[in-house]
Amino acid sequence: MSESRRASECIALHPTAVPGEVMTSCPECAASVTFAEPPRLSEVVECGDCHSELEVMTLEPVNLVLAPEVEEDWGE
Ligand SMILES: [Zn+2]
Repeated sequence: MSESRRASECIALHPTAVPGEVMTSCPECAASVTFAEPPRLSEVVECGDCHSELEVMTLEPVNLVLAPEVEEDWGE
């Protein structure tokens, strides 16, 4: 009459190697930056850790550089 033990399927505390996700690290603070969708060249993303603006320089592997600060607001 023992209940079958449920396999604990949700012990993943940190998502790793999710198909389709691309991970690289922030050049500023070395935190990992994850792209939910494939990054594009020259795409600017924000580091979730230090909030730096990072520009995608290369795609394979994905490398980020600090995006130059733009003074003018040229809209989005
Ligand atoms: Zn950062």
